[in-house]
Amino acid sequence: NPTLLWLRRDLRLSDHPALSAAVARGGPVIAVFIHDGGVSGLGAAPRFRLGLGLAALQGELESRGQRLILRRGPAREVLEELIAETGADAVYWSRLYDPEAIDRDSRIKSALKEAGVEAQSFAGHVLFEPWDVQTGQGSYYKVYSPMWRAVKDREIAAPLHTPEKIPAPESWPESETLQSWQLDFAMRRGGPVVAKHVAAGEAAAQQALATFAQRRIESYGTRRDFPAEAATSDLSQHLSLGEISPRQCWHAGLRAREAGKTGAETFLKEVVWREFAYHLMYHTPQILTENWRSEWNDFPWNEDAGSAEAQAWQKGRTGVPFVDAAMREMFVTGRMHNRARMICASYLTKHLMCHWSIGAEWFRDCLVDWDPASNAMGWQWAAGCGPDAAPYFRVFNPETQAEKFDRGGLYRQRWIAEGAEAPSETSLSYFDAIPKTWGLSPQDPYPAPLIGLKEGRERALEAYAALKR
Ligand code: FAD
Repeated sequence: NPTLLWLRRDLRLSDHPALSAAVARGGPVIAVFIHDGGVSGLGAAPRFRLGLGLAALQGELESRGQRLILRRGPAREVLEELIAETGADAVYWSRLYDPEAIDRDSRIKSALKEAGVEAQSFAGHVLFEPWDVQTGQGSYYKVYSPMWRAVKDREIAAPLHTPEKIPAPESWPESETLQSWQLDFAMRRGGPVVAKHVAAGEAAAQQALATFAQRRIESYGTRRDFPAEAATSDLSQHLSLGEISPRQCWHAGLRAREAGKTGAETFLKEVVWREFAYHLMYHTPQILTENWRSEWNDFPWNEDAGSAEAQAWQKGRTGVPFVDAAMREMFVTGRMHNRARMICASYLTKHLMCHWSIGAEWFRDCLVDWDPASNAMGWQWAAGCGPDAAPYFRVFNPETQAEKFDRGGLYRQRWIAEGAEAPSETSLSYFDAIPKTWGLSPQDPYPAPLIGLKEGRERALEAYAALKR
């Protein structure tokens, strides 16, 4: 009997324990992707990026005489229909760790088991299962460094190869078309612009890892903080959809370290930051929606996403060039450099005193690498209310940050057209990407800062001091 391979954030064929186990069962394998509430709930850019990832996987499966069955509806109903249609007697999938997925998956697992269908979930989205990493006291880690020390020398099995053959069934169940899902619908405002900056799929992910390991990892430790440079791996969008596994990244990092490449250790540490984010989301799922430290509940953050400050921030019109450059980079490319993310998040939550969830929501809508765990951890870290957070009194100064990390101004020139004698092509592309209703033009004068950097910092620190009292 066939095995249904229910794909979600594991859009790859190599190092895929659920796929390998399905093949090992011996019968045909039917890969299915379900457009359920989890997909409709995605922000514009991640949904659009998912469409590109699914198209790439479809191509890959078809080149192997396989197919990707697409169905829309509540996951449990769809799986039950497919079981009835195909005679499948097993459903395999890779585990996810956000509370909604855990709830859905455990209900489905019980229902399938009750109906006599083998239902099994597999590892693959993270290196370490969140329950396999514990402090000496048997608790979870709230601080990154001890977690890093606890896992850094663990033996991690080598990645699995792509199965040589993935047996196909004699007849295929019907599939909806990817076009009919219109996953790019909300991106029609600027979809084509973002698409130019995205390479989707497993082959692109492997290419990104190879380029990084050959050319960038050596200097990663020293160059990774400069947003104008292509010095990082650019793997996050692939990891987010599982086009590559963290284990493949980990082993590439280990090989580079053995080869004496100096940046390799830093890269391994970053991969573990992603693990830490998943660890936290699993053990404290409220990190997604609430201040992780409840003593912050009384902080006078502005919670109005429509406020002039929040709107100017979203549109890259705060009058602070480093912040605006980064916000525009994200709108055009679907990505933002990590240093820039920290600065934009600090500026919104501290200088502008807007609630971190406003920023987290906007990132959720704009990032092609959007990941629930890393985004929530990043925002709560920057705002000061998260685990292992930046102390609140350490307010990033976007000007000194720019002097340090964008000394020649290349990054700001790349993204800001207003006031420039010969605006760069990328800075103009921002105006193609944004909705007309924003009413912005490259001929506009560049805005004056919403608030002085010193004044904003002092206002935030006063509010913090009042909270402490
Ligand atoms: P590299 O520097 O090459 O790092 C390699 C990998 O390590 C990344 O692909 C990523 O998987 C992991 N990693 C690196 N830094 C972090 C980090 N700080 N936290 C967690 N994992 C990390 N990352 C996302 O993947 N999705 C998000 O939605 C997201 N939102 C963020 C929001 C804020 C406010 C902040 C401060 C950070 C956020 N990050 C997020 C983390 C980080 O900015 C990105 O992972 C990184 O910029 C991706 O680029 P890269 O793949 O070239 O990273």
